[in-house]
Amino acid sequence: MDTPILTIVVPCYNEEAVLEESSKRLRAVLAQVCQENLASYSSTILFVDDGSSDRTWEIIDRYIQEYREITGLKLSRNFSHQNALIAGIETARPYSDCVITIDADLQDDVNAIRKFLLKYHEGYDIVYGVRDKRETDTFFKRNTALLFYGMMKKLGVKMVPNHADFRLLDRRVLDEFVKYQEENIFLRGMIPLLGFKSTEVYYNRAERFAGESKYPLKKMLNLAIDGLTSFSITPIRMVTYLGGLVAGIGFLIGVYALAQYIFGHAVTGWTSMIISIWMIGGLQLIATGIIGEYVGKIFKETKHRPRYTIEKRLLEFGSEAFEKKAL
Ligand code: UDP
Ligand code: MG
Repeated sequence: MDTPILTIVVPCYNEEAVLEESSKRLRAVLAQVCQENLASYSSTILFVDDGSSDRTWEIIDRYIQEYREITGLKLSRNFSHQNALIAGIETARPYSDCVITIDADLQDDVNAIRKFLLKYHEGYDIVYGVRDKRETDTFFKRNTALLFYGMMKKLGVKMVPNHADFRLLDRRVLDEFVKYQEENIFLRGMIPLLGFKSTEVYYNRAERFAGESKYPLKKMLNLAIDGLTSFSITPIRMVTYLGGLVAGIGFLIGVYALAQYIFGHAVTGWTSMIISIWMIGGLQLIATGIIGEYVGKIFKETKHRPRYTIEKRLLEFGSEAFEKKAL
């Protein structure tokens, strides 16, 4: 097999604090895998600036001038982690044999990249990076993540547990991936749907070495809800079942009440009435909310808006990769 051209896609949102160290480590790993003939010397690192408001792009721009293996993409505003990844993957696809995505804070072990490539050479099309332990995550993050994975599994969404967006995809997978033009993409749910031969590589997740998490609770919740409703209609079905159950109970209560009335000892039951009004009201609200969630999705999908906008594209046009596979 020819040595593959690898592109390492790195989404960055306000990452000025980590970029120097991250680019150093990534370049070192890239140099090593090239030396071992696991990847071609035309391989590059593609930083995707997801509309940062700090000096992130300035730094990336400087690295692009300085190092031939570094390239960059600047999105016109903050489009979210998932969309930044997609922008990077789609940009890299025409000139890459495989793409590895990794977070800028390098909480994922860069040394796993070499293991990913070894698996690639064994013939795997997808390699998932899976966290061995989550000790370095906060108690809260660990448990909410556990809850989320558990729920997704119950709802029938195939996902690799403890795998975030650290993975290798080869050319065949990329070609299939770009055919999925849906607006709400949740990569972790999407990739397993593609099929292909896949495997896992385990690593220890480190702490963020600088800067702060760009995933506050609100973004995490949004990702979880999006992930769930983009891949599963089980919540809607559950509401239907629940509605059936409540209606059934209501019918029984009706029969009972009628009997009481007929036998002449109907009591004016204020308590039971008020309880049922509130209960039914609550259930209806939940049902409406869930349906609204899906209607919102449809609304978004029908617009077919682009998932991201690239403001600037600085790729290494002098490199072999581009000469060989001119864009
Ligand atoms: N990120 C991004 N856009 C966003 C939020 C985050 O591109 O709107 C990037 C961020 O720069 C990092 C990765 O997504 O490279 C993961 O974010 P972070 O490490 O803050 O999340 P955590 O590890 O805390 O879940
Ligand atoms: Mg992180």
